[in-house]
Amino acid sequence: MNKKVGLFWLREDFRIIKNDGLIEATKHHDQVVVFFLYKENTYKCQQAQKWWLSKSLLNFQKNLKNYNINLEIIQTESFKSFFDTLTKNNDFSLYWNKVYEPDYLKFDNVLTRILEEKNISYKICKGNILNEIKEIKKSDGTPFKVFTPFWRTAEKYYIDKIPSEEKKIKKCIQKKGYLKNNIKPEKILPSENWFKSFEKIWSPSEENALKELKSFIKKRIKDYSEARNFPNIIGTSKLSPFIKFGQIHVETLWNECLKNSNKSKGTSKYLAEIGWREFNYSLINYFPHMLKKNYSKKFDKFPWEKNLKFLKAWKKGLTGYPIVDAGMRELYSTGWMHNRVRMIVGSFLVKHLLIDWKEGEKYFRNCLLDYSAASNIAGWQWVAGCGADAAPYFRIFNPILQGEKFDKEGEYVKKWIPELKSLPKRFIHKPWEFQDKNFRLGVDYPFPIVNHEKARARALAAFKKI
Ligand SMILES: Cc1cc2nc3c(=O)[nH]c(=O)nc-3n(C[C@H](O)[C@H](O)[C@H](O)COP(=O)(O)OP(=O)(O)OC[C@H]3O[C@@H](n4cnc5c(N)ncnc54)[C@H](O)[C@@H]3O)c2cc1C
Repeated sequence: MNKKVGLFWLREDFRIIKNDGLIEATKHHDQVVVFFLYKENTYKCQQAQKWWLSKSLLNFQKNLKNYNINLEIIQTESFKSFFDTLTKNNDFSLYWNKVYEPDYLKFDNVLTRILEEKNISYKICKGNILNEIKEIKKSDGTPFKVFTPFWRTAEKYYIDKIPSEEKKIKKCIQKKGYLKNNIKPEKILPSENWFKSFEKIWSPSEENALKELKSFIKKRIKDYSEARNFPNIIGTSKLSPFIKFGQIHVETLWNECLKNSNKSKGTSKYLAEIGWREFNYSLINYFPHMLKKNYSKKFDKFPWEKNLKFLKAWKKGLTGYPIVDAGMRELYSTGWMHNRVRMIVGSFLVKHLLIDWKEGEKYFRNCLLDYSAASNIAGWQWVAGCGADAAPYFRIFNPILQGEKFDKEGEYVKKWIPELKSLPKRFIHKPWEFQDKNFRLGVDYPFPIVNHEKARARALAAFKKI
């Protein structure tokens, strides 16, 4: 057994099960220390996730104690300067799992150079993904740009792979206070108290991720392909923040889904959604320009408009279109929004209001507990029409019809917009047609900030310019 300490750099892997880097560390060392590097700057624009992060650190700290492993949290402004100091000693080996974002992968190269210069051994393991990015390419060696053939290839590749053997973390001998200047998880909580409402809804731990998954498989997966479209019911797994923080590995999801049954329509659809996540990771790594700009360059000339009044109304859920406003209020209250409604509110921002998708991306980044650069950026570019395999810009969602189709009874709207509770069903998605002395449009609930037909025509005219 290696006498040195095994250090595991925790990033997006808050789990005991299928945590390859941590398992490797405990295999080779009697003493293992886990550390998390908290960069305040990274989370400045991801306020909701500060709550999830803080709770996850606290819960993971407790779980690791069962293995005599300490979790130390260090605040730093630069990974590089932290590792420059750390590697002044070489009494440790370093382990970590990949995070599939270009900046993280680039830093892996910087770090491995530092470690090699100092003669410090290290191991980088597979992160939270089914296939490594480079494993899935077209037969001519180029990356996929369209989802369906990507997933056909990726799914087959994964099924044909020899399953990795189930390994477990070993109990260690405790090593206390290895690093200096630890901070407590509570220090990471956002200063605004708005996260209090999250506490009633979410419980960010590995145990809970597995419990939620099992309940979803038992009760809901068979109806998933239909039910996933309706925001008034819980038809999806709501596992996205757990997946983002690695409280569950997607291989565990896969195995649990296929454990007891043959692949039903619901299961196939559910696994294909995991496939979209893999596709998004592939896109941002092969086309990293899309992290900052349009994937499709012709959109660089799109005549977006700056309209702070509209943007504010959209953020606050006061556009006068109930399905849009309900979605934006769900996001603010819960840190999550239903996928169908993400598409509707996104389309409304970029098409009805002609506001650049980057504004929406930024707001979602700050409010979503499941924010991930790959899925948020690819999701927004899909909605805006400038992404890979995206919805064409000229296909413009009608927020009234979308509401009537996917929230027929108006239950979702009424849940998030109590001002509309008394409206009869047929007016719930067009309150401006409801005339009643007890309901004052413009006072109780806003007039629509734009007229749908006019906004649609304006969007099509703008699109013609590019
Ligand atoms: C504008 C926009 C922004 C988005 N931003 C994010 C984001 O920051 N983070 C994020 O995880 N997802 C994002 N999505 C994708 C999707 O909305 C969420 O993954 C989904 O709503 C999460 O809920 P769920 O866990 O119940 O999903 P389920 O339907 O239960 O799906 C299971 C898992 O598959 C993955 N998944 C499902 N749908 C998608 C999808 N369309 N694209 C990529 N992965 C998917 C997620 O990991 C999800 O947890 C975005 C979609 C849009 C349209």
